[in-house]
Amino acid sequence: MQDSYDVSIVGGGILGCAIAYFLSIITDSTIIVMEQEKKVAMHTSSRNTGKVHAPFYYNPEKKSSTATYALKGFDMLKRYCTFHSLPFKEDGVVEIATNEREIDTLLKHIQWAQKNGLRDEDVKFLSKHEMLQIEPNVKCEAGIVCVRDASTDYGLINQKLMEDAIKLGCKTSFENKFRSIRYNTNTNENRKMTIKGTVKDITTDYVINATGGNSLDIAHNLNLAKEFTDLHFRGEYWIAPQKYNALTKRSIYSVPRNTEYPFLDPHWIIRSDGRCEVGPNAVPVFGPYSYTSYENLMNVVPKIFASCKVGVLKLFLSKQFLQLVSNEFSSSFSKTNMVNRVRRFLPSLNPHDFKQRGMAGIRTILIDKNGEFASESLVVEDDSSLHILNYNSPGATGALPVAANIARTLVQKNIVNSTPKQINFPFSDEIS
Ligand SMILES: Cc1cc2nc3c(=O)[nH]c(=O)nc-3n(C[C@H](O)[C@H](O)[C@H](O)COP(=O)(O)OP(=O)(O)OC[C@H]3O[C@@H](n4cnc5c(N)ncnc54)[C@H](O)[C@@H]3O)c2cc1C
Repeated sequence: MQDSYDVSIVGGGILGCAIAYFLSIITDSTIIVMEQEKKVAMHTSSRNTGKVHAPFYYNPEKKSSTATYALKGFDMLKRYCTFHSLPFKEDGVVEIATNEREIDTLLKHIQWAQKNGLRDEDVKFLSKHEMLQIEPNVKCEAGIVCVRDASTDYGLINQKLMEDAIKLGCKTSFENKFRSIRYNTNTNENRKMTIKGTVKDITTDYVINATGGNSLDIAHNLNLAKEFTDLHFRGEYWIAPQKYNALTKRSIYSVPRNTEYPFLDPHWIIRSDGRCEVGPNAVPVFGPYSYTSYENLMNVVPKIFASCKVGVLKLFLSKQFLQLVSNEFSSSFSKTNMVNRVRRFLPSLNPHDFKQRGMAGIRTILIDKNGEFASESLVVEDDSSLHILNYNSPGATGALPVAANIARTLVQKNIVNSTPKQINFPFSDEIS
């Protein structure tokens, strides 16, 4: 069985579906989403913290595009969620300093917030006394309160984007895993490439790789981004019993203790449905779907071979990284250790009250030859493919503006034709 399309998007996470949505608005070129699972939103896009992140803790010198997309993402998500009556709760967030030394970091974050485009009224520094007035159960030396931060359900947004794209003519191929690409040399074939799938091959002119944790493997398959390797980190959560649901009014983040690594410490999270959780940590695992010990073990051998690269070996020689890994493992094995990481600033939490794990999600982070983590997401292209790599937090926040930008670029490059549809869908007025 074989199908033919102008553009094939591999990956039905929030990014792939958002690209499918915007392309389906802007063009009548034929589009397909190829997804390995039975439906979309089965992985990271529905296994995250659900925050619409305001860009106050992204260094504008290192993460300017992350910050820009996060800023735009807030407005676009608000509009999309309002249109479809999806959860979008503007509940704000607090970042706290647990000791005097961390206050400097809060002040730096206020400056970053301004440089990243947040307004003065969006982010405010609060003294210890002022913090006690707004969040009496939080123990801290000072805090930042950001009102332009929200909670949502990215899994629902992901599904809705796919539904909308289908209504606009996009096709889908589920339970069809990308295996490889072959360039067509037979001149009778009317498409440049054939994607080999597990159940169906797809011939296409252009491929977009939005496969999250698998995206580097697919780029390598096309001989791209060979200078990078990747590591996977499982973010685990514990669900707080209901009696804690009124403990704070906002989600609480602490100043990150390891600023050179791309993960924050576990937070106190209030989800859009009011559920509270502690998490996520960042436990190294062997694959992008290693949610359980069994799934993790299945990936040991391939990952060990793939990891024998200079960059990863350099990273594992770093004492600081090994210290971080050991902390993360200890909070994976011990619920008490995990809850205690948040109990530092919410002393009334009792680890024994936590009975149920939340849904873990996995970050896949690129590492270069020097053993450095890539700081931002990366778009790698050749004439007939585009790959979005290292698409990590706040990737869900930025997915709509990133996808709109990719769709516009494909029109400008004449990869798809420019035939905007006359429809009443969010952003159809702006994108076309
Ligand atoms: C613990 C955690 C917390 C986070 N919290 C937040 C947050 O609060 N706010 C925020 O903005 N961001 C957050 N993020 C980041 C955000 O969730 C991700 O950046 C985003 O969901 C990535 O979307 P994606 O579409 O690239 O990947 P995914 O959602 O993983 O989608 C990739 C898709 O590709 C498919 N696929 C993979 N390989 C193949 C193949 N070979 N063939 C066919 N299909 C394939 C997969 O099945 C999957 O459906 C968090 C991430 C984690 C891990």
